[in-house]
This record gives sequence, C-alpha cells and structure tokens, in this order.
Amino acid sequence: MKKKSSAKKTRAARGRPLIGKLVVFGVGLIGGSFALALKKNRAVAHVVGVGRSRANLLAARRLGVIDEIATDAAVAVKDADLVLLAVPLGQTRAVLAQIAPHLALHTVVSDAGSTKRDVIDSARRQLGAAFARFVPAHPIAGTEKSGAQAAFAELFVERNLIVTPERETSARALKLVTTAWKLAGMRVLTMDAAEHDRVFALVSHLPHLLSFTAVGNIAGYPDAAKLFAQTGGGFRDLTRIAGSSPEMWRDICIANRDAILDALDGYLSDLEAVRGMVEASDGAALQLKFSTARGARAKWLKP
Ligand code: NAD
Repeated sequence: MKKKSSAKKTRAARGRPLIGKLVVFGVGLIGGSFALALKKNRAVAHVVGVGRSRANLLAARRLGVIDEIATDAAVAVKDADLVLLAVPLGQTRAVLAQIAPHLALHTVVSDAGSTKRDVIDSARRQLGAAFARFVPAHPIAGTEKSGAQAAFAELFVERNLIVTPERETSARALKLVTTAWKLAGMRVLTMDAAEHDRVFALVSHLPHLLSFTAVGNIAGYPDAAKLFAQTGGGFRDLTRIAGSSPEMWRDICIANRDAILDALDGYLSDLEAVRGMVEASDGAALQLKFSTARGARAKWLKP
C-alpha cells in the first residue's frame, strides 16, 4: 500500500500524464472535445485520431485536437493506454471488431455513446476477454453541432458522466476512464444500463424526435416558406436540437428502439388527451394541464 502511494507521488512529481497514448475513433464534437480537455489539463501525452472523413481529420490536426492521423485501426491502437469510441452508434460494432485482435493487455477501451445496452452487447461479443477492460460511458454534454471544428475543451465542465459498468468491468479500467473524464471537468454517476436507456429515451431521445418532427411537419405544408417566415422565438427554442446530426439520431432510434417506443406511446397518449381537451373546448382541463406542467418546470429549474 505504502509502495503504491509513493509510486503515485513519483509519477505526479515527474509530471507524467495520466494517459500516454490516447486513440480517438470519431474525432467529432465529443471525441474532439475529450482530447482537447485532456490536453488542456496535461493529462495526455499523444493523441491519435481515426476517422471516416480525411478532411475532418486534417482539420482536427490543424486545430491541435489530435497529434497524429492514423489510417490503419490495427496500427493505431498498438500500445494505446486508452481507446475512446466517439463514433455514431451504428459504427460501434464494426470499430470494435476491427480493433479487438490488436489490443495490448493493458489497453482500456471506452465509449461515449448515447445508448448503453446495445453498446455493451456489441462489446461483449466483439472484445472477448478484453471486455473486462471496456468501460461503457455517456457524457451528458453536447451541442447541436458536429465535427472536429465544433470541439472545445470546456464542453464537459460541471456536467454529468454516466458510467454503466458490468460485473466483468475491471476496477483499474473504470478508475482510468472516470479519472480522465473528471479531469475534463465531469461529475461521475453510476447507473444500470437498462435504466440509463429508459431515462434517456424519456429526457433526451423523445425531445429530439419531437423537435425534428416539429420542423418536418411545418416543412411538409405547401406554404412552408410562408409559415417559417412567421415563426418566433418559441418555435426557434423548440427546434434548436433539430439542427443535430441526422445520422447520430437515426442510430440512437435503432439502438434504443424499445425504450423509445415506450416513451413515444406515453407521449402520444398524453397528446391524445390534450387533443380531446381542445376538441371539447375544455378550458378547465387545459388550464390544469398547463399549470401542472408549468409548476413541474419551475420546480425542476429551481436553483
Ligand atoms: P460527430 O458527428 O461530431 O462526430 C462523429 C465522428 O465520427 C465524425 O467525425 C465521423 O466522421 C466519425 N466516424 C463515423 N464513422 C466512423 C468510423 N467507422 N470510424 C471512425 N470514425 C468514424 O458526433 P458526436 O456528437 O461527437 O457524437 C459521437 C458519439 O457521441 C455518438 O455515439 C453520440 O451518440 C455520442 N454523444 C453525442 C452527444 C451530442 O450531444 N452530440 C452527447 C453525448 C454522446
């Protein structure tokens, strides 16, 4: 015990960073911001980026988000201390399959995906024994922007990171990943993966579907241009998140299908009830509905 803490002190005294080599698959808003946050805190020595778009990787290197562009995933992960998957969810399985045979025994793998059960299933299937060194994680931070140019080091400050470790997850891997995200400014919370997927279907996935649908609905009218010209701040607020990546949201809907269907069913029956109140010109019911919602919002946002 004594030996361990003096070794820790020596590393800190020498200023050795937490992570020697970080490999980021998907150098976009999340992967790029993670790299920048670690660099800003001197927690990483070398960042390698792997991606699908050459132009994005060149921009990432020019902006100092990554130090090196890798074209071969197998070579990229060699000797990595941490590999972060920050790709659209539909790419997770293929990336894990590519890297699995090439991971060193000390390499920890983690992800930033917005859903957790499907990612864990893929990781368990693809990584074999290395699954113990896989840490499922979801940073609750983001904007509607995408790509390396959208990345910034402060994105995660004072936001929550949800980790959903499985019984196989090694304590060392979990510690490395949570320490890295804490250095990026995050608070760490632990959740069961199924509970995570239910909660985020309700508070994140459903609102994004409503926002995309609100814009799509207006766009579908023959006089859409005139309608958009008349929109005000309310419509703008409701639809900010419809500027998000369609690919990312397509993949979230597929990955979290069951929980999203439950959330949609609950919402549709609520909306159906509101429709009935409007149809019946039931002012008392509408007022009660709206004042209950306003009260709940005030309580939620109370400092
Ligand atoms: P992004 O579009 O900004 O970045 C994704 C990057 O992955 C792109 O640069 C893309 O070229 C690259 N990519 C795609 N396929 C790839 C592949 N096979 N190999 C390597 N690179 C590949 O998206 P983002 O917002 O950074 O989201 C990344 C992940 O983080 C997603 O899984 C998303 O669910 C999750 N997430 C997003 C947010 C958010 O608000 N944006 C928040 C939390 C978690």
